[in-house]
This record gives sequence, C-alpha cells and structure tokens, in this order.
Amino acid sequence: MRYRYLCRYCGHNLGEINQEHITETQLGFHFLTPQERQTIISKDDGGNTVVHVLCDYCKEALDLHPELSLIGNPLQ
Ligand SMILES: [Zn+2]
Repeated sequence: MRYRYLCRYCGHNLGEINQEHITETQLGFHFLTPQERQTIISKDDGGNTVVHVLCDYCKEALDLHPELSLIGNPLQ
C-alpha cells in the first residue's frame, strides 16, 4: 500500500510511505473523525491512498491569516 502526502492547499508533494503492513493507527488516522477522514484521505486513480495535509509554507500562511482556513486544521 502506498500513501502519498500532498498539501491540500497548494498541492505540493510532501513525500510518501510505501509499506505493506502499516496500520491506520501507525499513520495516526484513528485520531480523525469520519468527516475529517473524508476531507483528508482519498484514493488516486492507481488505488493509492492520498493524504491531504499542510506543507510548511501553507501552514505559516494560515498561522498569519487564520481566516484562510475555512475547513479547519485537524492535523495540527
Ligand atoms: Zn502548501
């Protein structure tokens, strides 16, 4: 299973995890509400899991301009 991490604001590729036996607990997904999971986790065309998080740049921008964050920031 491949997990790709992308910034959900600018689409920047933050890296990926490629592991057969990694659990959702190890990835921290069990902290998420069902709504957050829908927002943050999706599948791409190849069946890989895509995790939408914030890159450092966008995180900084949101810290300076919290009004930009309309959907919340559940991973922080
Ligand atoms: Zn970004």
